[in-house]
Amino acid sequence: MVAPHDTVGRAPELRVEPGVLDRLRADGSSRAVVVRDGRVRLDGDTVRRVAAADVGDAEWALLGRDVDGAAVLLASVVPTTPEPPEAAVITTEADAEERWLGLREVGGLLGPREWELLVSAVALAGWLRDTRFCPACGHALEVRQAGWSKWCPQCGSEHFPRTDPAVIVAVESPDGERLLLGANANWGGRMHSCFAGFVEAGESLESTIHRELAEEAGVRLGEVSYVASQPWPFPRSLMIGFRAVAVDDDARADGEEIIDVRWLTRAEIGSSLAGDGPVGLPSESSIARRLIRDWYEGRGRGAANQLSERSESKCGVLSERSEPKCGVLSERSESK
Ligand SMILES: [Zn+2]
Repeated sequence: MVAPHDTVGRAPELRVEPGVLDRLRADGSSRAVVVRDGRVRLDGDTVRRVAAADVGDAEWALLGRDVDGAAVLLASVVPTTPEPPEAAVITTEADAEERWLGLREVGGLLGPREWELLVSAVALAGWLRDTRFCPACGHALEVRQAGWSKWCPQCGSEHFPRTDPAVIVAVESPDGERLLLGANANWGGRMHSCFAGFVEAGESLESTIHRELAEEAGVRLGEVSYVASQPWPFPRSLMIGFRAVAVDDDARADGEEIIDVRWLTRAEIGSSLAGDGPVGLPSESSIARRLIRDWYEGRGRGAANQLSERSESKCGVLSERSEPKCGVLSERSESK
């Protein structure tokens, strides 16, 4: 959910320069974002940069250029001391600056540029860590493209960081006056959110949307329109948000993944957004909540272009335990 004019300069022209990582690490102006176990440290509302020369053993990659043109590197390090559980809460500003924080904890603290830098760093660090051997022949891979590809010297195949697309959909009633939300079996019953699912092999996004809504909620959809997307590197998802219109009022939970589906009026959504409605809603910075809020505030059918103008809001924190990650989406386990 980052507007094109406010993204990190990724400097693709540097990736092809031979030995660029060694050169930039030796350059005193280069900065490094240190990632350990998917966590970073912050300085206020920015991701902390340190001098590249101050970082010890690490896996390196080029993230891009800072606003002033200086190179920003990823330094992915292996933790040497245990960390507190991720459920720990930031209670003071000092906590935020001293602790290593995960995406779920820091998303609400960062603007779009820093959020994208953070997500890129975490996603790339995870891929570098997990992609050691060639999936075709098993040989050890070599890093290329300043950390953005790996190459197999045995069979010559090249490998890139992957993204797993998942759709998330806000479904409105045929008359446009109600929104359909579902309760995942893992959420305790009160929490309701938009419907979501991973794109299967060979599917278009549209096919996934129709399949997921039919499977999980017994709903047939008419018009579907794109709204916005949000990267979510656990380990490598991209949530692609849509608005859809149901062809009728028929809906029923599948009883397995989804234990309840409910048509909520605009008034019920409004009170739930305010915290005293009939259902709990996902966290403020999740794309699910944005889809719900956009519907509530009347940015409706055919308004996708207007929505993209508003996409610079802070985004990110999607708790895994108490709230939907992004919607009704089961966690996909990492496969190595
Ligand atoms: Zn190979």
